[in-house]
Amino acid sequence: MACEVKTTCPYCGVGCGVIARVGDDGAVSVKGDPEHPANFGRLCSKGSALAETLDLDGRLLYPEIGGRRADWGEALDLVAERFSQSIAEHGPDSVAFYVSGQLLTEDYYIANKLMKGFIGSANIDTNSRLCMSSSVAGHRRAFGSDTVPGMYEDLELADLVVLTGSNLAWCHPVLYQRLAAAKATRPEMKVVVIDPRRTMTADIADMHLAIAPDGDTALFNGLLAHLVTSGAVDQNYISAHTAGFPEAFAAASALDPPALANATGLTQAELLDFYRLFETNEKVVTCYSQGVNQSAAGTDKVNAIINCHLATGRIGRPGMGPFSLTGQPNAMGGREVGGLANMLAAHMDIDKPLDRDLVQRFWAAPTIAPTQGLKAVDMFRAVADGRIKALWIMATNPVVSLPDADAVEAAIRACPFVVVSDILKETDTARHAHVLLPSLGWGEKDGIVTNSERRISRQRAFLEAPGEARADWWQLAEVGRRMGFAEAFGHASPADIFAEHAALSGFENDGRRDFDISALAEIDRTRYDALEPFQWPQPKGAVPQERRFFAGGGFYHPDGRARFVPVHAPKARPGNDAFPFILNTGRVRDHWHTMTRTGKSARLSGHLAEPFVEIHPRDAQKIAVSDADLVMIQSPYGAAIVRALITERQAESSLFVPMHWNDQFASKARIDALVTPVTDPVSGQPASKNVAVRASRF
Ligand code: SF4
Repeated sequence: MACEVKTTCPYCGVGCGVIARVGDDGAVSVKGDPEHPANFGRLCSKGSALAETLDLDGRLLYPEIGGRRADWGEALDLVAERFSQSIAEHGPDSVAFYVSGQLLTEDYYIANKLMKGFIGSANIDTNSRLCMSSSVAGHRRAFGSDTVPGMYEDLELADLVVLTGSNLAWCHPVLYQRLAAAKATRPEMKVVVIDPRRTMTADIADMHLAIAPDGDTALFNGLLAHLVTSGAVDQNYISAHTAGFPEAFAAASALDPPALANATGLTQAELLDFYRLFETNEKVVTCYSQGVNQSAAGTDKVNAIINCHLATGRIGRPGMGPFSLTGQPNAMGGREVGGLANMLAAHMDIDKPLDRDLVQRFWAAPTIAPTQGLKAVDMFRAVADGRIKALWIMATNPVVSLPDADAVEAAIRACPFVVVSDILKETDTARHAHVLLPSLGWGEKDGIVTNSERRISRQRAFLEAPGEARADWWQLAEVGRRMGFAEAFGHASPADIFAEHAALSGFENDGRRDFDISALAEIDRTRYDALEPFQWPQPKGAVPQERRFFAGGGFYHPDGRARFVPVHAPKARPGNDAFPFILNTGRVRDHWHTMTRTGKSARLSGHLAEPFVEIHPRDAQKIAVSDADLVMIQSPYGAAIVRALITERQAESSLFVPMHWNDQFASKARIDALVTPVTDPVSGQPASKNVAVRASRF
C-alpha cells in the first residue's frame, strides 16, 4: 500500500527534511518537506535524486568471512573473539573503531559507549575528523564548549554574510538557496566570499577575495586590529563576558599593512574595503567550512574569526555570529555522543576526571578510557606500525578519503583483523576486510541526526531491510554482548538508545554543560516515532524553545567568560621549486563523498562525468596543457591523472581537484593519495587543502 514518510536527507550538514513516497508498485519518489525548518520544502540536486540511488546493485546483503557467506552469529562471534583476544593479549589500545558522520546518533552512541566505557580505550575516531574537528577545537578554546551559537535564520537576517572557505552553492546548496533568496528580497544585504577560487558561490557575492593559501588567520587578525583602531569594538561585552583580549589584540597587530597584504595575497585596498564592511554592519554572520578547517592551522583560523565576533559582541543575537557549517549529515550528532577520540559523551571532556567518573557511573561501566585516543591520521599510522591489531571500520571509505591514501590502504591490508560494516560489497576499503557486515542504508535505517544549526531530526525507515542487512547499532551491541557486556547493550530499538543518550545529557548537569536534551529522557517508541525536528538544548522541565547562545555571555569556561585566543599567521607558505603548485581538494555540486551512492544516479553523474583539475590559463600554458588533456599531478606521497579544465576562476599557481572519484570510477583518480598527512596540532584535522604538487601533461 502506498505510504509517505517524513525523513531527512543523508548527505550534507544542512539536514533537509524529505518526504519519501513509496507507491503501490514499490517505486520511491522524494520531495522536500515543506514543514522542515531547515529547508521549507527545498531540495538540491543530490537530495532530489535520492530515489535514484536505492537499487540493490552492488549491495552487501549477507555477512562474509574471508570472502565466503557466513551467518550473523558466526560473524559476530568471530568479531567479538578477535577483539577480546587482542585486548587480552595487547591491551585495550590495540583495537580501534573508525566510524563516520554518516552514522545515526544511536549507532554513534553505542560505538562510543562500547569503546570508551567497556573496552576502556578512546581509540574511536570518525571521518568527521576530516570535516570539522578544527571548528570543534576552536569552539572549545573560545567558548569552553562545542557550541554553535546561532541558527540558519541568521544568514537571512544578517546585513553582511561572510563566507570563508565555503563553496556554499555546491556544498550546502539549500542554505545557499535561502541566502540567495534573502539577498534577492533585500538587495542591500552584502555577501563576501573569501576563497582562492572564484566558485559558483562568488556569483552572488558583492566582494570576492581570492585569498592566498592559509591567509585566513592574517586576514581576520588584521580585521581585529582594524576594529580596535576604528573604535568598532564593544568594550562592555569584552569587559563583562570575555578574557584575554589584550593578548589577542597584540598578536593581531603583529603585521603592518604591507605585511598583511603579503600574507593574505590581497591588496591593501581590498583589505580595507572588507574591513570597513565588517566595521559598519552590526548584523554580521561569518560562515566557515572546510577551507578553514582542513588546514594545518585550522583551529587558529577558527579562533581568529571568533575573536572578531567576540570583540564586537556580535554573537548569539539575530543575524550575528560565527557559524561553522558541518559537512556531513550527522557530524553534529557524533560530537554530541562523544564520537571523537578526544571527547566524551554529551559534550563532556575526556581530559577531566570528574567527567570521566560521571560517564562511567551513568553507564555502570567496568572502566573508562583514561586518556584521549588516536585521531584519524594517527590511528592509521598505529595500524601501519602494528600497534593496532583489530580495526572496525563503519560507513566510511578511508582508502579513498584519508590523506596519504596509498599508505592507509597498505596499513589496512597488513592489519591482522579488519571488520568493515557497509552497505556496499566492493568499496576500496571493503576489499581488505576479513569480516564484512551488511548495514542498512538510507530509507532502511531508523534514528536521529543533528544538522549544523543544532536541529535534531528523525531519519525514518520506509523500505524493508534487504537480504540480511542490519543496523550498525545492532551490530555493535551484539558484539558488546558477546564480549561479556550483555546488560549494558540490551537495547531493543533506536528509541531505547536515544532515551539513554538524552538521560545522560541531563545526568548531574546543573547547567555546566551546553548539550542537554534531558526533556526527551523518558521518550517512548510512540513519541520517538512522531518526534518533530527541534533544536537543542531541551533540558528537563524547561519550556521548549529555539535559542541562540552567548548574547549575554554564559560561556562554559569555569568563570563563565569566553576566551580570546591569540593566534599568529603561519610564516611559511606551501610550495617549492620541485612542487610549485598548490592543490586544493573539494566537492562538486552533484556528488557526495566517495560517490558510493551518488555515483548510482545517471542524472547526477551526467553533470561532471569524470575527475578534473581546474587550472588557470597562464599555468596551463606554462606546462603546455590544453583543455581536456590528461594531466598528471604528483606530490611526494602519490599521483593522480585527471582531465584539464582551464578556467580563470582558478587562481594562478593553484589547482583544484574534486575529492569524490576513486579508482573504481576512473583510473588513478584518488586525489587523497597525494594529500600530505599533515594535521592541525590542536584538532588533529588533516590539511586537505594547500598541498604542494607538480603538474604535467600526461
Ligand atoms: Fe541534502 Fe544537503 Fe542538498 Fe539538503 S542541501 S538536499 S541536506 S544534500
